[in-house]
Amino acid sequence: MDKRQQSLFDGEEAPWVQDDAQDFLVAQVVFSEQPFGPYDYRVPEECRNQVALGKRVLVPLGRGNRTREAYCIDVCSAAERSAAVDMRKLKPLRRVLDRDALLNSEMLDVARWISDYYVTPLGQVIETVVPSGVRAQAGTREVVLLDVPNAVIAKLTQLKLPPKQSSALRALASSPKPLTVNELSKRAGCTAAPIQSLRKKGLIRETIERIETSEHALDSETDDAPKSLNEQQEAALRQIGQSLDSGEGGTLLLHGITGSGKTEVYIRAIQRVLNMGRQAIVLVPEISLTPQTRRRFRSRFKRVAVMHSHLSQAERHWHWQRIRRGEVDVVVGARSAVFAPTPRLGLIVIDEEHDASFKQDNIPRYHARDVARYRASLSKIPLVLGSATPSLESWHDAATARSDRISLPGRVRNLPLPEVAIVDLRDEFRSKKSWGMISRPLARGIQETVAENGQVMLLLNRRGFATSIQCPACGFVLNCPNCDVALTHHRDGRKAVCHYCDYVVPEPSQCPECLFDGIRFAGFGTQKLEEEVQKKFPGVACLRMDSDTMRKPGSHEMALERFRRGEVQILLGTQMIAKGLDFPNVMLVGVINADTALHFPDFRAAERTFGLLTQVAGRTGRGDRGGRVFVQTFTPDHNAIVLAAKHDFSAFAEQELPVRESLRYPPWGTMARFVVRGPIETQTQAFADRLGDRIRSYVQSDAATFRVLGPAPCPIGKLRNKFRFHLLVQGLEAQSLQTAVRAVSESLQVPEDIQWVVDIDPLDML
Ligand code: ADP
Ligand code: ZN
Repeated sequence: MDKRQQSLFDGEEAPWVQDDAQDFLVAQVVFSEQPFGPYDYRVPEECRNQVALGKRVLVPLGRGNRTREAYCIDVCSAAERSAAVDMRKLKPLRRVLDRDALLNSEMLDVARWISDYYVTPLGQVIETVVPSGVRAQAGTREVVLLDVPNAVIAKLTQLKLPPKQSSALRALASSPKPLTVNELSKRAGCTAAPIQSLRKKGLIRETIERIETSEHALDSETDDAPKSLNEQQEAALRQIGQSLDSGEGGTLLLHGITGSGKTEVYIRAIQRVLNMGRQAIVLVPEISLTPQTRRRFRSRFKRVAVMHSHLSQAERHWHWQRIRRGEVDVVVGARSAVFAPTPRLGLIVIDEEHDASFKQDNIPRYHARDVARYRASLSKIPLVLGSATPSLESWHDAATARSDRISLPGRVRNLPLPEVAIVDLRDEFRSKKSWGMISRPLARGIQETVAENGQVMLLLNRRGFATSIQCPACGFVLNCPNCDVALTHHRDGRKAVCHYCDYVVPEPSQCPECLFDGIRFAGFGTQKLEEEVQKKFPGVACLRMDSDTMRKPGSHEMALERFRRGEVQILLGTQMIAKGLDFPNVMLVGVINADTALHFPDFRAAERTFGLLTQVAGRTGRGDRGGRVFVQTFTPDHNAIVLAAKHDFSAFAEQELPVRESLRYPPWGTMARFVVRGPIETQTQAFADRLGDRIRSYVQSDAATFRVLGPAPCPIGKLRNKFRFHLLVQGLEAQSLQTAVRAVSESLQVPEDIQWVVDIDPLDML
């Protein structure tokens, strides 16, 4: 029985007392849609014991008092609050919706930080922090459970009841656990009517409970034996251990080359965390949540939750509840696992911390690394960032003592890094001795590898067959009518596809403009590569992995499984194949075109290219038979390519960082990117100009701190029929930049049809 009922029965506290004394409670709430709040509501006496921070409540809003769902973010007494608000005018909230809070105060604190840092309304952030499956309580339903109060049981024999009611009551009283109406009517052999009568007479008590409606199976696999650590791994573990023991937390950058055994270090560190009675969260890029990764964690820890994108709402909810109850020791997942509600978190690990998938590309545009850093600092626990090619942000942090650096400079078992040969495609083209995408040296390498029964990986970061469709007679290029990009030719289905909006048309047989017959499909995609591989190496099993062939859930894992078992000898694909895979029999890696990412209009183009080449090169040489890499390029002298071929990250960072500094790009200073979209070009540009003026007039007094670039058309100037303009604002540090963004956005009049967003620390510059 709750307190409210007690007081009614005891008659000690009259409910009307609250009205003149100001001792009622005030709940502060936010909404996930306009208006976002926060707003104050009076907590009616009957909700006093249920209301709490992190729960949802129903409140009246506006003149019409329409009922809306809101998140309670604070509860305090009216006396504490009254200085700021006129308490008599407060509307009462209607109802408290959740029995258990969706966020504890720690996670609410994290949500507030995201809201501040990314200049996003708190209500929208909460909807990201708490998964929708949890909010919908997916996979569970409410049932009414019946039992007999003790007072009734005591006088059971004296009750005069009709026979059916009597037998139903006896059946329930003799049950060791509460029953549903259905269960009881089955057991007592009666309809619902006598049970209903018993309820009315108050002889049966009802409680409402939530029960699971779906079954959840945990697959456990055991095949990853613990390794005894080598010296450099031991040293790395010692450093993490010191940080764990210190109770002060901090960020540790674990820079370990590919194949240096980083995962084994994480696993040992996590074991220490478990011994301390705490939990760990491990974030990996979505694409790396392969069966191999799962097996590694599942076989080493008993209570693991793997959160991947193919979980159903119900499964997500079920895991979340287990995590919250402390029934899970290790949470492994993509970006959003940073919000796992572990009650006693001891460590956060982010593997492949440089990976762009840790940044969310819609609201709230948070970066899991920065959220993790904040969460770790709240709990005073270590955050370990692991990578062979750290982001320059993390590298710079370690250089400036914002975090510590640990190195694993060698591979496990003293395996050498693979030799990398650069193939100059200009020579290949001039000599005209080779056709297609695979140069002679690479073709020879593949031939030799296949003959030795080794496996091959070929990377081409472009899906489709041809990357553009052009008429050689009039120069016409087939573009997407909705977007400012060329359509890609897909051989399967003979169609032309927009990779941004999925617009599809049948492939043209003649030029739509001049009706010339010989329209050309130019540029290379993974489909064309697959065809070439099949022609050049007949009889060799080959598999293509890109987002076209990997649409179905599970297909990605199945493909990798077939490759692991050796049923496939050549695996080709987009960057999907570049990351994290550990197959000892891969003896050759070929990069078909190292330049695909190099000429992007993005200041991180060189960093991305270096990272991708290093990562994909690292897939080979993991077994005793060694490995080698061929990198095909038209720019063999580019730093990113030359240094990746030498596996020299430090040298790359040393060359790249001064360039960034001179332009004040991250990791120097911070950046906000405004993107304006609208259906009419002139109107959209006019608004972008107005926004630009507003920003400039705000920052002009502080020209030393800020720099404003644009507005200019985005590199993709039109997307899904919306014209796009962007503006970049660079600032020396985050806080003043966010203040500026907030000031500029406040009371900004936005024409109908026009949308604008702001992205703090943007990774996507298109
Ligand atoms: P990274 O993540 O640094 O690329 P992994 O952690 O995937 O490297 O390790 C590469 C391979 O080496 C894995 O197959 C792993 O089981 C193995 N390994 C890790 N540590 C050791 C060790 N100390 N001795 C032998 N093999 C090891
Ligand atoms: Zn399109």
